[in-house]
Amino acid sequence: RSLVDAEADGDERAVEAALRPRSLDEVVGQERVREQLGLVLEAARRRGRTPDHVLLSGPPGLGKTTLAMIIAAEMSAPLRLTSGPAITHAGDLAAILSGMNEGDVLFVDEIHRMSRPAEEMLYMAMEDFRVDVVIGKGPGATAIPLEIPPFTLVGATTRAGLLPGPLRDRFGFTAHLEFYEPGDLDRIVRRSAGLLGCEVETAGSAEIASRSRGTPRIANRLLRRVRDYAQVRADGLVTREIARVALDLYEVDESGLDRLDRAVLDVLCRRFGGGPVGVSTLAVAVGEERETVEEVAEPFLVRSGLLARTPRGRVATPAAWRHLGLAPPAVDGT
Ligand code: ADP
Repeated sequence: RSLVDAEADGDERAVEAALRPRSLDEVVGQERVREQLGLVLEAARRRGRTPDHVLLSGPPGLGKTTLAMIIAAEMSAPLRLTSGPAITHAGDLAAILSGMNEGDVLFVDEIHRMSRPAEEMLYMAMEDFRVDVVIGKGPGATAIPLEIPPFTLVGATTRAGLLPGPLRDRFGFTAHLEFYEPGDLDRIVRRSAGLLGCEVETAGSAEIASRSRGTPRIANRLLRRVRDYAQVRADGLVTREIARVALDLYEVDESGLDRLDRAVLDVLCRRFGGGPVGVSTLAVAVGEERETVEEVAEPFLVRSGLLARTPRGRVATPAAWRHLGLAPPAVDGT
């Protein structure tokens, strides 16, 4: 598994818990979202009502789960966590909803991956705080209405566009999380280092931040690896030099590219003259599955302006050539 994968694996969630901001004030960056969400919550508190349902959209690792936890904490309400893939039947959702108390916050991660029947039940629950539980099958089936106390749904999705319109419309507030600027990532690294009891020089945290792909989860992960290195091979202090050597050792380069990312660029430029070349051919050349190249390597290469997807295949940009220390081919002006 790559160090720069924005998804968390199971074990990492536990380590991450210690680094999570616990209040809106502790959240670094995302000023607009913080202010908007702060208003939604403050207004609800003053009215003594449960806040509107909130949709959080954005790539993995940018703070959606963290914000859901903060919403519950700021409302002094219990948080229940589930995820779209875990709700395979409408009955699964009915069971969760029937156990809710007034004011509870229900967090549904990957809400776009919920089954259709569950989704339809959720519309009704969000709007009317009521669901119809169907008992039995076939002609003898009966729908029993079930009242649910007012609650706040917090849904998270990697792309709001994946949600069916009717579901999207039932959220009173949608927050789009953007990738973080290096300055914010730097503050996140320093904050995390403080919590981990790790001493970091300013240039050291900046070095980690610049290799973190705009993603707090990756910044925290790189910090943990650099801390290991600093403690084992040096006196524990994270300087720029220590951060560089450690991250080079883990094959995360100055732009946050890992071994696979660089292999893709390398093959594209050196073997295929910069393309265009089909993604399947590219995948065979780097010895990976097509899906891995498409879903793991490409999005960040495209975002970084190093690779372009064209109808005729993948093309290396001049920046890609320069990244490999090569001169971009001259543009044919004739
Ligand atoms: P997501 O649910 O979007 O995948 P998480 O909320 O699990 O992301 O965040 C991943 C990690 O990044 C957590 O450990 C969290 O502490 C950290 N993090 C995310 N956003 C911020 C932020 N704005 N400030 C500080 N730490 C953050």
